[in-house]
Amino acid sequence: LIFINPAFERLTGYCQEEVVHRNCRFLQGEERDQPNRAVIRDAIARGEPCLVILRNFRKDGSLFWNELSMSPIFDREGRLTHFLGIQKDITSRVLLEERMQAHTRSLEDHQSELLRLATVDGLTGVHNRRYFDTQLRIQWKIAARQRESLALFFIDVDHFKAFNDHYGHPAGDEALRAVANQLRAAFRREADFVARYGGEEFVVLTGGMNRLMAREFAENLRARVQTLEISHRATASGFLTISIGFTVCVPGPDDGSEQCLEMADRALYQAKALGRNRAVEHLGGDTTPPFRTTGAGCAGD
Ligand code: GH3
Ligand code: MG
Ligand code: MG
Repeated sequence: LIFINPAFERLTGYCQEEVVHRNCRFLQGEERDQPNRAVIRDAIARGEPCLVILRNFRKDGSLFWNELSMSPIFDREGRLTHFLGIQKDITSRVLLEERMQAHTRSLEDHQSELLRLATVDGLTGVHNRRYFDTQLRIQWKIAARQRESLALFFIDVDHFKAFNDHYGHPAGDEALRAVANQLRAAFRREADFVARYGGEEFVVLTGGMNRLMAREFAENLRARVQTLEISHRATASGFLTISIGFTVCVPGPDDGSEQCLEMADRALYQAKALGRNRAVEHLGGDTTPPFRTTGAGCAGD
């Protein structure tokens, strides 16, 4: 440094006598490895201008963000003789930017949390009905395009009112969580999922299953819940069980998701009528008879 102006003195707290003949690097205090130093060094070596932002320190040790603009000065013969540096305290701008970045991050966090709350069921942690309703239509279209089947399983916990009445509502909530986890653990594909459709009702949507696979899958779901061995004195098995109505659709260009859902629901009704703790398939359309019972667990209750 060969000369500083009064503004430099006000900005840094140093006076002319203290800084003249020193390398201006001292403004960086202990932080000597700032990435922008290489930019400055490079510009000096090439005799080119540069603009950098540095963390600098005043004489009293306080930090300020320094936007330093350096320009080469040449003599008449074109030889580089000096650099002229203009520094600007941009601390408030940097702090504002940092605050805005933190604000943006927290907004993004809130947004993803809102999205999660909007699509996930609070009690069980599986998807909620709203998510299911939108996904059913989307998956229908995808399946139609890929010429894949779509299997829909409607699941209802057996005699759940009696379970609540006997074991209490908190135990009922706990049982619903256990059932939901057990259903969720049965999937293989990313797009397959379980959703809580209502109180003690769940729906499962899976793609690419033929009838045999769907039947085996339904039986697997039914068995999984029974093997939780949650005592329930009102059922024939003595354990909490589920009934399942399901159907395998082959989606076409028209949206038939509603009918698909209705068929699974009718099959569920049938499963209840036949004694619960079983899976009943709706064979679709005009098939006579429309139902096939599979995987009946134990004697009807
Ligand atoms: P079914 O075998 O015919 O399905 O008989 P059910 O008793 O299960 O059927 P019903 O529809 O009569 O009763 C459903 C019960 O589910 C009634 C309600 O108290 C209970 N239920 C619904 N949502 C919740 C919940 O979030 N927590 C608890 N603990 N119970 C719930
Ligand atoms: Mg029900
Ligand atoms: Mg029920």
